Amino acid sequence: MKFHSTRHAGLSFSFREAVLHGLAPDGGLVVPEQISSLPPSFWANFSRYSPEEIAYEVAWPFLKTDFIPAQVQQIVQHTLSFSIPLVRVNSSIYSLELFHGPTLAFKDVGARFLAAVLGHLAKDEPRETTVLVATSGDTGSAVAHGFYNVPGTRVVVLYPSGKVSELQEKQFTTLGGNITALEVEGTFDDCQQLVKQAFADADLRQRVSLTSANSINIARLLPQTFYYFLAAAQLPPETPLVFSVPSGNFGNLTAGVLAQRMGLPVEKFLAATNRNDTVPVYLRTGQFDPKPSVPTISNAMDVGNPSNFERLVHLFGTQRMMAAALEGYAYSDSETRDAIRTLFRDTGYVLDPHGAIGYLACRDYATRHPNACCIFLETAHPVKFKETVEGQVGEVEVPERLRKLLTATKQSIKIPARYEALRSQF
Ligand SMILES: *Cc1c(COP(=O)(O)O)cnc(C)c1O
Repeated sequence: MKFHSTRHAGLSFSFREAVLHGLAPDGGLVVPEQISSLPPSFWANFSRYSPEEIAYEVAWPFLKTDFIPAQVQQIVQHTLSFSIPLVRVNSSIYSLELFHGPTLAFKDVGARFLAAVLGHLAKDEPRETTVLVATSGDTGSAVAHGFYNVPGTRVVVLYPSGKVSELQEKQFTTLGGNITALEVEGTFDDCQQLVKQAFADADLRQRVSLTSANSINIARLLPQTFYYFLAAAQLPPETPLVFSVPSGNFGNLTAGVLAQRMGLPVEKFLAATNRNDTVPVYLRTGQFDPKPSVPTISNAMDVGNPSNFERLVHLFGTQRMMAAALEGYAYSDSETRDAIRTLFRDTGYVLDPHGAIGYLACRDYATRHPNACCIFLETAHPVKFKETVEGQVGEVEVPERLRKLLTATKQSIKIPARYEALRSQF
């Protein structure tokens, strides 16, 4: 399969090129050129397949020009190293738990797939591939864990000293091996600026093979289609599917639309946001009016100008088509807290603030569609937002592997926020 830019259909490239470039050369986002339905044989075997087999069949058409079957098998195995259970929370609402990975959030899926893909591509490179990433917390840990021990790759994480939580810091400073953590005496913006300078440094790039693990990379998006199929596989066949997707940059929701184009029978997607409601407003009014983000308790979704909106526009063509497939919902922090408290009171299920927004959209959709079965994506483990969640439900149990992590020793290299200091690390 070929890929092209959202801005320029004439320009097409392979998966390998798309992954290595990140952005299309004209500044657009990479999208598949055409998306074909999965064959009847896939659906005939669907209920018998293991999660890895489903992921393999979904990934194969995209990867087959650049990889052999054994490599694709290894890539999906690395990606799905943890379970993705579908948990019923009440008579018509299900939680798709995407937080059982090493860093307790769905971003593990995309980061692990990208790492495995780059691991294979790195084999053809004479030099080690270095992934350079600036983080305010979560991206760094998902990337570090995804690439940990992947041969031929090294990760350098830059993070602002004293400005990430202890748990986040431990997630990328205790691995060692091919993961280096640079603790920058500055802000997250300083870290991003240093990374930009490194990518613009022609001399450094001659010596070191640098790659970014940017969230708009197609290799982080594609594997997010897997779990829409995995959710369907855990329900009786022919169940009409409604997915509620708590959204920030809309990568997750875009992946859902790709799954639908591959033939997954989805009735509706609920685009659920916090007060950063640029897309719900667009769906209602046709006006796309990006704004600076406002801080909320579901902070991974504090995005005023969603980066994947351009992909959604490309996939749907018009606002009318998009609004026919997607319904927008937006909620305040107090509605989010109420949802965490009342669902726990009524069922014992503990939501995180992001999943809570997905749950709210399902609940409101159900008032108008009483027979619908609605699945919300639970994108993070509640313990990641311990204070907020404990304010509503009392003590949240810390998983064993997290407790171990908190006692592990931090290894970081402190550097001033100056480019020469970063450069001397290579
Ligand atoms: C990144 C993130 C989101 C938003 O996902 P998008 O693909 O950017 O819409 C939601 N919840 C959590 C916990 C996240 O980390």
